[in-house]
Amino acid sequence: MKIIEKTYSFGGMEIRKSTRRIILHHAAAVTCSADDVHRWHKARGWAGIGYHFFIRKDGSVYRARPEKYVGAHAGGANYDSIGICFEGNYDTEPTMPDVQRIAGSELVSFLKEKYGITRVQGHRDVGSTACPGRYFPFEEIAEGVENAPCENCVYNGRSFIRDLQKLLQQEETGEADEALRNALPQVSASQNRAHPVVKALQVRLFALGYNFPKYGADGDFGAETGDAVEAFQKARSLSADRIVGEDTWDALMKD
Ligand SMILES: [Zn+2]
Repeated sequence: MKIIEKTYSFGGMEIRKSTRRIILHHAAAVTCSADDVHRWHKARGWAGIGYHFFIRKDGSVYRARPEKYVGAHAGGANYDSIGICFEGNYDTEPTMPDVQRIAGSELVSFLKEKYGITRVQGHRDVGSTACPGRYFPFEEIAEGVENAPCENCVYNGRSFIRDLQKLLQQEETGEADEALRNALPQVSASQNRAHPVVKALQVRLFALGYNFPKYGADGDFGAETGDAVEAFQKARSLSADRIVGEDTWDALMKD
C-alpha cells in the first residue's frame, strides 16, 4: 500500500486530541475522486474534504484531510476518529472491487498499528444513515490484514532484516551480516517459491510501493510477485531476471 499525499487548501480546523476509532464510509457516488469530494465539501461551506483517507476503486489510497485534524465525516463522532471513504455507492453496487477492498483492509491495519487502536465502525453505527451501504464488505475491511503493510519509514530495511533473521533462526541484530547473507536462499517462481522468507519479501516490496492487487502477501512466489521483483530490479538497475538472489536481497535490505 502506498499512500498518495494530497495537499489541498483547507479552512480552519482543530487538532484532534485523541484517536480511538476508525469510521468507514462510502462516497454514495459510483465514480468520484478525492478532488471531487474536496470540492463538494468546500461547496457545503466546510474547511475542505471531511475524510482523512479516500480509496478509489483501482485500489489507490489518498491522504486527504491531514490526519492530525478533526474530520468532518460523522457528526458527534469526529472528535476521536479517523474517517476513511471508499469511492462507490455500496447501497446499489453489489460488489466492491478486490483491489479496493484489499487496500481498505491494509489501510485499516496500518492505522490500527499506528494509533494502537482496534475499534472500527461504520458511519451507520454512529448516526442515522445507511452509509457505508448494505453491500459494503464491512467485516473483511474492519478485520484488516495479517502482516500489516507499513509506510516506507515504518517497515524499513532494518525491520525487514530482523524479520529475515527471525525466520532463519538467527540472532535479530538488524544488520545484514555475513551469516544472514549466506543463509538467504535464492527464491523465484521456480525455486523455493513457498519458502518462509517469501512472505517477508512480499511485505518488504509492498512497503516500498509495489502492489499485489490480486493475491496480497500470500507467501507464494507467483507471477504477481515476479512482476513486483522485476519492477524493483529495474528501478535499482539490477539484472531484471525475476530471481531474488544475492544482489536483489542486498538492495531490498538497504533503506
Ligand atoms: Zn458516511
